[in-house]
Amino acid sequence: MKELIVRGPGRLVWEEAPAPGLGSGTSALVRPIASASCDLDRRLIAGITPFKPPFALGHECVAEVLEVGEEVTTLTRGDLVSVPWKIACGQCAQCLAGRATACTTVPRHAAYGVPAGGHWGGLFSEVVHVPFADAMLVKLPPGLNPLAVASASDNLTDAWVAASRPIATRDKARVLVVGGTESLGVLAVQMAVAAGAASVDYLDDNVYRRDLALRSGANVELDPVLDEHYDVVVSATRDHRALHRGLLALAPGGHCSCIGIIFDDPKIPLFEMYLRDVTLSVGACNVRPHIPKVFDLVRGGHCDPLLVSPTVVTCEEATEALVQPLAKCIVVRDRIT
Ligand SMILES: [Zn+2]
Ligand SMILES: [Zn+2]
Repeated sequence: MKELIVRGPGRLVWEEAPAPGLGSGTSALVRPIASASCDLDRRLIAGITPFKPPFALGHECVAEVLEVGEEVTTLTRGDLVSVPWKIACGQCAQCLAGRATACTTVPRHAAYGVPAGGHWGGLFSEVVHVPFADAMLVKLPPGLNPLAVASASDNLTDAWVAASRPIATRDKARVLVVGGTESLGVLAVQMAVAAGAASVDYLDDNVYRRDLALRSGANVELDPVLDEHYDVVVSATRDHRALHRGLLALAPGGHCSCIGIIFDDPKIPLFEMYLRDVTLSVGACNVRPHIPKVFDLVRGGHCDPLLVSPTVVTCEEATEALVQPLAKCIVVRDRIT
């Protein structure tokens, strides 16, 4: 079977690898049919992250189930599933407490497409081993377009959680989304609107993304001074100055969800935040429990993830398309079940 491998900075190649076997009764083998680039992927390919090649790329996809182990009860060959980015058992104390990102059955940071906790394969590959199929995979409801929910594995669901959680505990929330990565900011705008925000403003220098944010329901013509304006800020930027600006834009009692990955050590205005009694959340999102809700939002037309995924390509075109700079890219493969 073929795997999409990051070989070195800017070098993305399809390579032949032995097909994985089931290996255990709780496992499944799946074949990705719609794999999306995460906003992190372009930086992984460029070699500007702490994660060093070679490794198989990809941690967002919808796949068809090829085969399941004898202990798997919820899935069967031919099912279409969302494959969450995180490898997690569903049974340990951390998983049972809703913290699958801290699962203790597998190495810390075990995930698809990022060599942080071992190598678990990538979701652009032809066949993927899922060690805990019942605990990890989420079946698509009939009629849902796989392309529209290809990024439910990570970015789309992350945007929903980052926006909806703080909005749910505030009346008529005024929201600021600080954009900067390819898709997360625009998706957060859509999700803030879906979660019932009173208003959504979008801050970003990039004209292309500002247009997508406008079409997603945001106001993009902002006042020069944003300080103390917003109940909720979603920071989807890699630029620590933009994060800083977002934090100072919080009104007293506000909350900032930081979902853009910043590798260096940004300056955080802690005293200003202290005086305003604001909170900041940072962290990889445990997407699995929220994926069914995201399916409902897409099915009900409450968000339009394809707006940030204008490029749909075949596997042959993937090595070039995935390094293009502006938006998400979806790689498709025919079904065989
Ligand atoms: Zn990701
Ligand atoms: Zn676990």
